[in-house]
Amino acid sequence: MRTIDADIAIIGAGIAGAGVAAELAGDFKVVLVEQEDRAGYHSTGRSAAIFIRNYGNATIRALSNASAPLFEGADRTLFPQPLLTQRGLLYVAGADGLDKHRELMASADGLREIDAGEAVEKVPVLRREAIAAAAYEEDAQDIDVAALHEGWLRKARAAGAEVLTAAPLLSAAHEGGNWRIETPAGRITAKILVNAAGAWADKVAERCGVATLGMTPMRRSMAVIAAPAGLDIGRWPLVADAAEGWYFKPEAGKLFVSPAEEIPVEPHDAYVDDMVLAEGLYRFEQAVDVPVTRVERSWAGLRTFAPDRTPVAGFDAAAANFFWLAGQGGYGIQTAPALSHLAGQLIRRASLPGDLEALVPALSPDRFRS
Ligand SMILES: Cc1cc2nc3c(=O)[nH]c(=O)nc-3n(C[C@H](O)[C@H](O)[C@H](O)COP(=O)(O)OP(=O)(O)OC[C@H]3O[C@@H](n4cnc5c(N)ncnc54)[C@H](O)[C@@H]3O)c2cc1C
Repeated sequence: MRTIDADIAIIGAGIAGAGVAAELAGDFKVVLVEQEDRAGYHSTGRSAAIFIRNYGNATIRALSNASAPLFEGADRTLFPQPLLTQRGLLYVAGADGLDKHRELMASADGLREIDAGEAVEKVPVLRREAIAAAAYEEDAQDIDVAALHEGWLRKARAAGAEVLTAAPLLSAAHEGGNWRIETPAGRITAKILVNAAGAWADKVAERCGVATLGMTPMRRSMAVIAAPAGLDIGRWPLVADAAEGWYFKPEAGKLFVSPAEEIPVEPHDAYVDDMVLAEGLYRFEQAVDVPVTRVERSWAGLRTFAPDRTPVAGFDAAAANFFWLAGQGGYGIQTAPALSHLAGQLIRRASLPGDLEALVPALSPDRFRS
C-alpha cells in the first residue's frame, strides 16, 4: 500500500478542488484526491457554463463580481484563449411570472427592461403572445469550463501537486496533528484536509468524524435538441423564463434546454428523470415556437446548496485543520476564481483584498455552528 506525505490533501478534483490546488501548489505539498477515474466527472463537467452577474444572493454576486477581472486577466500562458465570451441573457416572463420579473428588476444591476418586440427580434422563435415582460443583460458570458479546469490542474501539477484518481476517501482521522486519510489507492498523511467534495461534502465530513452542515444536492437536467431549421442561432443569448420554469442556450449549433428543476436528492452519479425532462420541454414549447421531436442527448448534474444557499469556505472551528470549500450551488464555475483565491489565502492564513475579506463571515462554516 502506497503512503503519501503531504501538507494539504484536497478531497475532490472538480472546479473547486482544482482551483484551490492551483492556488496552493508550489508553496505547499498538495495532493488532490478524487474518487472517480477522471477529474471533473460530476457537476463541473455538467454545467451550463454561463457567467451571470445578477444571479444568486448578495454574497454570490460579490464573488461573481470579484471573479470577473480574474477570468479576464487570467494568465495567457496557462489560458491562451479567453475564458469568457459575450453571450447575453434574455429573461422573459409570462403573465404568471410578472412578480418574479419585478423582483429581478428591483435587485439587478445592468439589466435593461425591453419590450416583447425587441425580445422576439433577438430570438425570433419566442412566442410574442406568451411574453408579458422581458429584460436583457448584455454582460452575461459563456465560460470555457474545460479550459479553466484543465488549466488549473496543469498549473497545480507543474508546481508539484499530485492528482490521485480512483481514490475515494473512505475514512480519515485527525491524530498526532495530522489527518490520516484512507483510500484504496493509498494512505495519505496531511496537515490540512480540504473538503471540496461537491455533492458529497457532508458524506466526506461524516467519514472524517466532523459534524455535517446540512448540504443538499439538487438535481438539474439538460436536453440537447436540433436548432430550428434555417436560423442562425450562434449569437442568440441564453433565454431564461423569469419564473425559472426553463432556460435554453445555443451551443455548438444545437439548443441546450433545461427544465431548470431543483430536486433534492442523495449524492450520486446523477441521471435524468424522463418525466421531469418531458414536463420541462413542454413548458419550453409553450414559450418558444420550436417543436421538440427528438432529444439528441441529455444529462443531469447536482447543484449542492448549504441551508442558506451561500457557499461554505473556511476552517471548521469544531475540527482541527478541516477546511470546507463546498455548497457552490448553481454558481460554482462563475465564482471559482474568487472563491479559489479566498480559500487559498484563508488556508495560508494570509490577508485578503477588502472586497473578499468582507465576505469571510458569510462564507464561514461557523455560521451553522451554535
Ligand atoms: C445542469 C447544471 C448547470 C449548471 N450551470 C452552471 C453555470 O452555468 N454556471 C456556474 O457557475 N455553475 C453552474 N452549475 C454549478 C456548477 O457546476 C457547480 O457549482 C460546480 O461544478 C461545483 O464544483 P465542485 O468542484 O464543488 O463539485 P464537483 O465538480 O462535483 O466536484 C466534486 C468532486 O469531489 C469528488 N468526491 C466526492 N466524494 C469524494 C470522496 N469521498 N473521495 C474523493 N473524491 C470525492 C467527486 O467525485 C467530484 O469529482 C451548474 C450545475 C448543473 C448541474
